[in-house]
Amino acid sequence: MKSGFVSLIGRPNVGKSTLINSIVGKKVAITSDKPQTTRNTIQGIYNDDDTQIVFVDTPGIHKPNHKLGTYLNRQAYYSIKDVDIILFLVEATSKIGPGDKFILNQLKDLNKTIFLIINKIDKISKEELLIRITEYKDLLDFNEIIPVSALKKDNINQLIKVLKNYLPDEIAYYDKNDYTNKSKEFIMAEIIREKVFELTHEEVPHSLTCIIETIEKKKDKFIIYAAIIVDRDSLKKIIIGNKGSKIKEIGVKARKELEELIGKKVYLNLFVKTIKNWRDKEKYFSELGFNDLE
Ligand code: GDP
Ligand code: MG
Repeated sequence: MKSGFVSLIGRPNVGKSTLINSIVGKKVAITSDKPQTTRNTIQGIYNDDDTQIVFVDTPGIHKPNHKLGTYLNRQAYYSIKDVDIILFLVEATSKIGPGDKFILNQLKDLNKTIFLIINKIDKISKEELLIRITEYKDLLDFNEIIPVSALKKDNINQLIKVLKNYLPDEIAYYDKNDYTNKSKEFIMAEIIREKVFELTHEEVPHSLTCIIETIEKKKDKFIIYAAIIVDRDSLKKIIIGNKGSKIKEIGVKARKELEELIGKKVYLNLFVKTIKNWRDKEKYFSELGFNDLE
């Protein structure tokens, strides 16, 4: 038995959440084409007969330009300190940029096993890939360089195979059947949040919260009451849309995925709530029985 903890680090949008989902084979982290949708550190767990790898998804490290950004950065650093291996993800589609260099500088002195993962190779030619590899390979003494496509699941098996050579531990940290440490309710709320991002535009901030208020479990179906929490009425209007068209669309898409996750028919009662300040928000969460914003 071999095991270990692996952290994914990289600029927003390079495909960290997509990679975790591909490896684990289930959706544990929401993905988005808008940066910074991952607020919580998500763990995806890969299991096979003789291996357990615990993946820690991080909010992207980036140059902070506001409070939330600083907080997300801090979370990302915490998660690298405690892991055995770091996967530094970059996009094959773009040249190394200031954001990547900023992260590389943080990684330099860590003295850890670091893999360079070049993602999105489905979007470039072999020749371009070779150019990317030469651009990156001397920036740091990477233990391994592995090109993948997280989306098309290309070369993911190879990544797992190589990772196995570096795993330091010999015990299972989680049950063999677990693929995440997050609750089903958390993942359900994340799925709804993902649909909100997918179907609305820039004006909806990534700090938006979704929460499962109650679940009525019937024999053949689940009735789910879920709230999308915003801090302004103007946002509420955007999410509800013209005559409720937007929230309906969000609900239809979310319901489909919730049914896949649960394996049962779902009735989703989705509503938007405006809570203007933090104190009221905390009160609302604690009334529902949540201790924190998960
Ligand atoms: P994160 O911010 O690093 O967690 O990035 P996400 O996993 O949310 O992905 C950002 C966007 O890139 C999403 O639209 C993904 O579908 C897309 N993406 C991720 N991996 C790949 C890939 O291998 N190929 C392509 N073409 N797109 C990808
Ligand atoms: Mg992410």
